Amino acid sequence: MNPNNIVTYDYFGSLYINMTNRCDCRCVFCIRDQEGSGLGGLWLDGEPTRQEVLDSILNMDPTAYPEIVFCGYGEPTCRLDDMLWLCDRLHETLGDTCPPIRLNTNGHGSLINGRDVTPELAGRLDAVSVSLNGSNPEEYLRLTCPGSGEKAWQAMLDFVRDAGKYVPKVMVSIVDYDKSQAEIEACRQLAESLGAIFRVRPFA
Ligand code: SF4
Repeated sequence: MNPNNIVTYDYFGSLYINMTNRCDCRCVFCIRDQEGSGLGGLWLDGEPTRQEVLDSILNMDPTAYPEIVFCGYGEPTCRLDDMLWLCDRLHETLGDTCPPIRLNTNGHGSLINGRDVTPELAGRLDAVSVSLNGSNPEEYLRLTCPGSGEKAWQAMLDFVRDAGKYVPKVMVSIVDYDKSQAEIEACRQLAESLGAIFRVRPFA
């Protein structure tokens, strides 16, 4: 692994994991490859192995954190099997002292992996936060530019709804980027209709 890679980092007091920069979207507000931005340094020069990610997490004294978060920038479910393996190893190693584990995702995990992956999250994740980005497919596609096109919208909605069957806490968020109050309210109603908790994140 490149020693300059930032695989784990402290972000607002939580332990964040950055193990891939791959993503099936190209969101207009994404800063993953902007070197000058505060998070641009998360660009990986070669992905770490899952063992290297585990070692990096354990070196951070994870029990001292209130939460472990699979994030990025990049879409963690591009490495779904490694993420699930890491959850299992953390639960095995840390037992009752393992902090809650959250996945921040664009909700395309099932689309990316070609199967409904939500049952595999059971007992591994404590929370999932899905980026909604828009209350309708047009707005969603305008902002996220998914490689698979229109079907990404329905895949994201299905993921939110189905994740609620297996993960105790499912949240849906939007970035307050170019959003009217009416659009935010429409997003809230959509999120709640899917059984998710809604939140608005400030644009960084
Ligand atoms: S889903 Fe996340 S990582 Fe992917 S392009 Fe959008 S903001 Fe960037």
